[in-house]
Parts: sequence; C-alpha cells; structure tokens
Amino acid sequence: MPGAQTKYTPYWWEAAPLQSEPVRELTPACDIAIIGAGYAGLCAALHLARAGRTVQVFEREKTGFGASSRNGGITSGNLRPGAAALTASYGAERAARITAEGHEARRYLQHFISSEQLDCDFQPVGRFYGAMTRAEYTLLARQADELARETGVTSFAVPRTEVSQHISTDLYMGGSVRMDIGGLHPAKFQAALLRAARAAGVAIHSECRVESVSEGTHKHKVSTERGTVFAREVIVCTNGYTDHADRWLRQRLVPLRSRIIATEVLGSERVKALVPGLKMLTDTRAMTYYFRPSPDGSRLLFGGRDTGLLGDNEVPTRANKRELLRIFPELEGVQISHSWSGYVAMNRNMLPRIFNRGAIHYATGFCGSGVVWAPWLGLKIAEKLLGSAARPSAFDFSPPGLVPTFRGKAWFMPAVFANLGLQDRRALARNQRERSA
Ligand SMILES: Cc1cc2nc3c(=O)[nH]c(=O)nc-3n(C[C@H](O)[C@H](O)[C@H](O)COP(=O)(O)OP(=O)(O)OC[C@H]3O[C@@H](n4cnc5c(N)ncnc54)[C@H](O)[C@@H]3O)c2cc1C
Repeated sequence: MPGAQTKYTPYWWEAAPLQSEPVRELTPACDIAIIGAGYAGLCAALHLARAGRTVQVFEREKTGFGASSRNGGITSGNLRPGAAALTASYGAERAARITAEGHEARRYLQHFISSEQLDCDFQPVGRFYGAMTRAEYTLLARQADELARETGVTSFAVPRTEVSQHISTDLYMGGSVRMDIGGLHPAKFQAALLRAARAAGVAIHSECRVESVSEGTHKHKVSTERGTVFAREVIVCTNGYTDHADRWLRQRLVPLRSRIIATEVLGSERVKALVPGLKMLTDTRAMTYYFRPSPDGSRLLFGGRDTGLLGDNEVPTRANKRELLRIFPELEGVQISHSWSGYVAMNRNMLPRIFNRGAIHYATGFCGSGVVWAPWLGLKIAEKLLGSAARPSAFDFSPPGLVPTFRGKAWFMPAVFANLGLQDRRALARNQRERSA
C-alpha cells in the first residue's frame, strides 16, 4: 500500500517543478490585474498582453501551485448536466450553443497547443468509458452513436467482448470510446503557458497574495501583500483555491479534493498489456474515477475523490489503490510512488462559466474539467474585455448562485460522499451479479 518510499507530492512536479518568479517591483497602474496564475489566469493574461494591454498576474504561492499542475491531464471537457438538463434549464437554443462550444473548446485546446508549440506531451489517444452495468452500457452505446452522428466526432460503442482491446479488465460490461479526448502533462502545460505569458510581456508576481480588491469608478484598487496596484479591469481566476480575499466567491464555489496516485515504474510492455491503446480512462461510477498511463507510458496514474480528512494522505491513497486493484487485480504488490491531492471547484449549476460582479470579472468554477475549460474561458474572458468576440460565449452566465448554508466549508460533503458511495456499492453489486450470470 502506501510505502515508506511514497512521495506525497505530484508525480508531475518531478519533470516540471513549481517555479518562483524573480521578485520585481509592482507596477503602480496597469490595464488588467489578474488573480491566480493557473491555466485560466495565464491564458487570459497571454491574450490580453498580445492585444497590447499591460497585464499583471498575482499568485499567492509559487506559480502552478493550484490544480493546474496537479490534475490528471485528461482533456475531457466534461459538462456535468446532460443535454436534457441543459435544455430544461436554459432552453433548446442555449443548450445547443453550450454543447457546440464544448466541442469547439476541445478543438481549440489541440490547436492552441500545436500552434503555440507548447511542450506538454499532448497525446490525442482518445478516451475509454467503462460501463459497470448492462443498462449503463446501453446508455453509453446510444450516446456514442449520437455523438458520432450529430458532430462527426469519432466515437463508438465497445461491447463487453471487445473491452480487452482497450483495457485488460473483467470489470466492465462494455463501454464506449471517443477520440476527441486525449492526455497531456499538466505541469509541463502550466510551465509552457508561463513561458508564453512571460514572452508576451505579462508581469507575473508569484508568492504575492492579493488581500482585497475595491472597485473605483475608472480604476480598481488591488491590495497585495507586496503593495497596491490600480487596474482598469480585474479578473479573478482562483477556482478551487479561492481564499478569504474574495468571501463573495467563496460562498459560491464548493472546493472538493481530488486525489491521484502513481504506480512505480511498471515498464511500457506491462502498461501496454493493461491499456493497449494507451487511452485515457474513466467509468460510470458516481465517485468519478479517472485514470491513465503516464505520458511516457511507463506507469499508471489513478485518480478519484479524496474523502479523507484534510492532511491525511494514507487513507485516501489506500482507497485509490483499492479501486485500481479492483480494475487490475494483477497489480497487487505494486508500489505507489506518488500520491497527492488538489482542489476542484463545483458550483450550483455544475457548469464552468465567465461572469462579472460589478466591475470585477471571473473565469472560474470548472467542475473538475478545467484542462479544457480554463484555457477556453481564459480566452473568452479576454475577448469579452477586448470587445473582440464574434459572439458572446454560451458560458457567459450570471454569477453562480449562493450554495445554501455554505460559507466556505463544505460540511455537507460527507453526506454527499456517503450517498455516492451507496450508489457505487449498488452498481458494484449489480456488476457482480451480471458478470456471474
Ligand atoms: C487532483 C486533480 C485532478 C484533476 N484532473 C483533471 C483532469 O484530468 N482533467 C481536467 O480537465 N481537469 C482536471 N482537474 C481540474 C483542473 O485541474 C482545474 O479545473 C484547472 O486546473 C483550474 O485552473 P485555474 O486556473 O482555474 O485554477 P488553479 O490552477 O487552481 O489556480 C488558481 C490559483 O489561484 C491562486 N490564488 C488563490 N487565491 C489567491 C489570492 N488571494 N491571491 C493570489 N493568488 C491566489 C492559487 O494559489 C492557485 O494557484 C483536476 C484537478 C485536481 C485537483
């Protein structure tokens, strides 16, 4: 299980360690101040600086400290509400625009990485989605069919007899594949964005916490631990790491911990035997498991919700390993080299979004799928400020609603996790019955 040799820091930081920016004077006035130097903040900064704006980015920690250097690197671009729920909430026209923009955002990420030559091990390998039950397989097969028919994305159902072409496990009753999802090295992507933003002239101040923002008529006062700056526009990109500097936002984003474990080196032959196409992987369980080969194909990374107590690494590491072994029992005895967690940010409607509160702009609330959404909505908020968008983004919403009784501490999550765990135990029981029938 976790052993003496398990490091409780991200595997990704071995190849792309966190960076401190050289300390520089704050510029007293600028066009745009951005809070948070993850994908969203850096992408917004890059586009604004290239359009000739003076931009300063403020990051509380070393750059990349947040989710952007810790995530699974799966370019899923998931939207949690399904088509029916989107239509019920926003009407058919807006729902169609939201879905279409999702496809555009995935295509944009691939184009952005290649056109900017961002060194981040991007691999367009596709994603396999495993079904725990026959009924879930029927649903996945129908959705794969619809996706192919309606959008032209290569996607197809994988009956149980063909699952082994994608993943060597007995667990799934079938699955589906879509080829518009791939994987990247998240910390290298973060480092590449940082280089691009610096080259575009963005001033990045790391280890410089923003303490407050006060709106003025033409200029807004941004107070940081290293001094005060006046900016014509302010963008907040703090997502799951939002602190007391923005109490208003803290009552609207629920931070949840997600944890990833990395196996020791298994060797590329063994990894290929387990995951023949080296695809990104997930399944239909409610606790949201996501897993993948490392970009060099030498080991497996396995992620899921971290339901442990804050600061406890061992219990959630064991929980992830147990689920890894449920899929690949032959990995019993394999050591865990790294285990780490980070925060994702959920909101009431479970949709990523840009919005504003008075003169303060936000690109945030990526609901655990920010590898696609954060760069995209960083671009969209930049276009909005520049007035250069051909049309408003379908993700330009009103602010997320208050989460009742929530004041920054998600006291209700144990009950939510207990309910999700119950759903998964039922799915597992059904899975066992169906597999032995
Ligand atoms: C373990 C894990 C696995 C994940 N896996 C995936 C995946 O496979 N695919 C996917 O699409 N998404 C995944 N995600 C989600 C994805 O990583 C995030 O949605 C995305 O990185 C968010 O980027 P961001 O720029 O909005 O925020 P972040 O990268 O979190 O950056 C926010 C920054 O704001 C800074 N900050 C906060 N307050 C202040 C302040 N007062 N002053 C200055 N700075 C401040 C923080 O220090 C932080 O660095 C995962 C997340 C985690 C944690």
